[in-house]
Order: sequence, then C-alpha cells, then structure tokens
Amino acid sequence: MKRLTLSVALLALWATGATRTAEASLNVVASTQDLAALTREVGGDKVKVEGICRGYQDPHFVEAKPSFILKLHKADLLVLVGRELEIGWLPPLIQQSRNAKVQVGAKGYLDASLTARILEIPTGQITRAMGDVHPQGNPHYWLDPENGRRVALAIQKKLAQLDPGDAAYFAARYADFDKRLAEAEKRWEALMAPYKGLKIVTYHNSWPNFAERFGLKVVGYVEPRPGIPPTPGHTFELIQQMKRDGVKIILVEPYFDLKTPNSVGRQTGAKVLVMSPSVGGVKEASDYFRLFDYDLNLLLAAIKETGAR
Ligand SMILES: [Zn+2]
Repeated sequence: MKRLTLSVALLALWATGATRTAEASLNVVASTQDLAALTREVGGDKVKVEGICRGYQDPHFVEAKPSFILKLHKADLLVLVGRELEIGWLPPLIQQSRNAKVQVGAKGYLDASLTARILEIPTGQITRAMGDVHPQGNPHYWLDPENGRRVALAIQKKLAQLDPGDAAYFAARYADFDKRLAEAEKRWEALMAPYKGLKIVTYHNSWPNFAERFGLKVVGYVEPRPGIPPTPGHTFELIQQMKRDGVKIILVEPYFDLKTPNSVGRQTGAKVLVMSPSVGGVKEASDYFRLFDYDLNLLLAAIKETGAR
C-alpha cells in the first residue's frame, strides 16, 4: 500500500515536471500591444507576454496601475518602444518593480527603437518648451512593417540570449514571421500603389513611417504640435491649407476627441477616418498583420468614397 502511494506521488511529480517543460519559460512584459504582438510572433508558446498600454489608449499618456508594477516584478524581459514615448509613465513603474532584471541597461531591458529606422530625429538643441512629445525622433515607428521585422529580429536575439535552450525555436519562428510579413507587404503595397502621393492630414503625428512606406503625404496635423491640443488659430490655418491642397482625408487616432476633426471635415469636405495606430485599437486589429489589413482596407474604402487622389 505504501509503495503504491509512493508510485502515485512519483507519477504526480513526473506529470508536474512534464507540464512545466511545456509551459512558457520566459515572462515578457511589453509596453504596448504592438510589441506584445511581435514578441508573440517570435516567442510562441515559450513565452508568456503581457502588454501594458491598450491599443485604444494614447501611448504617451498611460495611467500607471499597481497591477503593472506586479507584472514587471515577475518579468524576465521588458520590451519598450523607447524614444521617450513612455517617459511619462514607464520609468516609475520599472523602478517600483524592484526587479533587477528589467532595470534600464539590464539584460532583460530591450529598447526596440535601437534597431528600428527612426524618422524626424531633431537636429540642434532639443527643448520641451513647446510641449513637443517627440524630442528624440518619431516614436510611432512600428507602423512601417519593415520596422516590425527589425524589432522582431531584436526580440528573437534577446529571447535566445535569455533562454539559449530554445534559441532554434525562436529562430524558426522569426524566419516564419519574416516570410509571412514579406508576403503581406507585397499585398499591402499593391493595394496602395495607385494612390502614391495622396495628401492626408492626421490628428497626431503618429503616421510618418506608415505614410512613407505606403506612399502617402502628410501635409498637416490637427494638433499644432505633438501633444498640444488644437487651437482656433492653428485649426483655421489647417482648413485653408487643406482647401488649397484638396485634402480629402483626416486620420484620427481612437483616443482623440472628434470635435475639431469633424468641424474641419465639415468645412473642407474631408472625411474623418478613425484608424488604429496599434494592435488592439479595434477588435479587428488583433495582431500585427491584421493591424495593417484593417487600416489599409479602411483607408482604401475612404479613398474610393471621397474620390481622393
Ligand atoms: Zn506621438
């Protein structure tokens, strides 16, 4: 009887061990859902990934919650956008996590911007006096799939460094992601090819990488400067410019008030389009591929509807 109990106990122990090896071996926290999605692409079931900022929230301004500190406390790796996108909320969370692994410069701290192509890097003296929230170049770089590829590669290398036993698995996952992305890029480029040079206006300066990649020209912003709400004077100038340039589309991120864009739209005949700048911004944009599928299809429908060219 005693022997049987022991066998059962051993069996239970073995089963637990077996389960454990099949479980995720790395806890990853990503500052945004885009980086979480890219980590999932590469990490597969060897990582447990949580994103902090939701796709429908402004990533410049996230309300810090105690639950974020707990997530960071247990993390093996933190992946962040960088370029000061999260400067207003992430540094105190990292500090309060009391987790040496994810402190700035530690092995488990990955600034994804270091391998991405960054646009609008300012030259000369950088000052926040004007309220600009993009002092180190444009941080919305994930909206070019080529940057998604670069970030995924950086994540693959980092995961392999933290979990060398699964390095081949991460490499295979990255190769597969790269291949699927290349196929999708061909499809997306073909969709947009007829509209090269199309002039648009956006609310926040979130779309320079997206615009460059898909041949759009952003000629103005509803915000007078990144992070500064619309002013009557700036809105008046924007309307004049849109009339001159014949702009028919205003892109708005889901976290901004539609009052000013709608008013500008009424006065210029332009269509206001709420596009998702991030995975999870709308439920259809549920991963990195579906983000571009959703945004490009929405944009194409608006182009056709307005006759914009
Ligand atoms: Zn921004």
